[in-house]
Amino acid sequence: MVSCGLLGAKLIHSYSPEIHAFLGDYPYELYEKSAEEVEDFVLHGPFTGINVTIPHKKTVVPFMTELSETARRTGSVNTIVRLPDGGLYGDNTDVYGFTEMVKASGIEVKGMKTLVLGSGGASVSVIDALKTMGAAPVITVSRSGGDNYGNLDRHSDAKIIVNATPVGMYPGNGPSPVDLSMFPACAGVFDLIYNPARTGLMLQAEKLGIPAMNGLYMLVAQAVRSSELFTGNKRDSSITDKIVRALDFRMKNIVLIGMPGSGKSLIAKKIKAFSGREMADTDAEIVKTTGRRPSEIIEADGEEAFRAIETEVLKNICKRSGLVIATGGGVVTRPENYDVMHQNSNIVLLDRPLDLLSSKGRPISKSKGVKALYEERWRLYEQFADIKAKNDGYRAGAVAGYVLKTLEGAGK
Ligand code: NAP
Repeated sequence: MVSCGLLGAKLIHSYSPEIHAFLGDYPYELYEKSAEEVEDFVLHGPFTGINVTIPHKKTVVPFMTELSETARRTGSVNTIVRLPDGGLYGDNTDVYGFTEMVKASGIEVKGMKTLVLGSGGASVSVIDALKTMGAAPVITVSRSGGDNYGNLDRHSDAKIIVNATPVGMYPGNGPSPVDLSMFPACAGVFDLIYNPARTGLMLQAEKLGIPAMNGLYMLVAQAVRSSELFTGNKRDSSITDKIVRALDFRMKNIVLIGMPGSGKSLIAKKIKAFSGREMADTDAEIVKTTGRRPSEIIEADGEEAFRAIETEVLKNICKRSGLVIATGGGVVTRPENYDVMHQNSNIVLLDRPLDLLSSKGRPISKSKGVKALYEERWRLYEQFADIKAKNDGYRAGAVAGYVLKTLEGAGK
């Protein structure tokens, strides 16, 4: 019987069990082991096949009786299969995963000068794959190397940038390892990070019109290849796309924006009920954090002071994954809130007819008038939104169902 799992040091945030659940009905357990425990576990552990992650990919190599070509070249093993004679076969499916990621992106790397940021385990696999695909020259940028972050200007002609560092990864969302404006010829960015879906590096690439892809495809593709080795069964090539779409939808938040009174909290509750997603409400979070209601803060301290608090609350909520989030009506008035939401969310605009919007208990709607506010903000709502959902106010369940179906169907 096939029995699999993942060997590493800290595995609490791993997506591997979920990915392998898509791939087969074999058990997939998490095994957290220290470096001292690795040898005994690899030789005698209760598995027929196992994945290996940080920090043991090199540690396990000496215990293998057979290595694949890529494992030998990279000196790194992330997939082990127990052979019928009791021996252990080690492979490195990260190389395959990154190759598939590049193919899926449509970004050409052949003949392109490529910078790989970071010199850790993933970097070695990425460089091996890039060289096989014909990228040249491939330069490793390391904090302590000859090519480092202090002399990047010598590589301003780079065409492809790969982030193989943890900079920008959850919970450290936001920062980028390099400023892409230094590379005017850059034609493609790969970020191995998949949480958040769009790192600071990817958000900048998007603004500069540079095609960019996150590491989810690599993660899933290497798991598909591992599963083939575990079970001996070849998978249909479309399975990777399917799993990536399903995970991308599940991991991204659903953020509801729209005019005050457009039904954001009610629809969020319905989405929570239908999907089991955890719900967050920025106004409720502001009350929790400050002890004051938004209307009180606006009346006492002014709208600017309120907006600053709102952005901080939004930052904390939106860096999490898989939530449904109801926002305050004015989040779109601060341009910086776009990246905060867009980094890890699908943004849904609730479109409720003007005559159904009430200003009761809403100081800004009251002072400006609902119609004037609508005219002032509508363009912004449309600019922020990925999709729009009509809410006539009578069928909240249908609106919630429409949002979930549209986003899931599009793999968003
Ligand atoms: P690692 O072995 O710890 O190496 C990361 C490298 O990044 C380090 O060797 C270091 O290189 C550089 N680095 C670390 N902290 C940095 C900082 N604060 N600023 C700049 N550079 C820093 O980790 P890894 O296994 O290579 O993983 C790297 C990233 O890839 C992680 O985010 C991981 O989650 C991701 N990853 C994704 C997949 C996937 O399937 N999508 C697979 C593997 C890894 P220098 O000291 O040379 O600068």
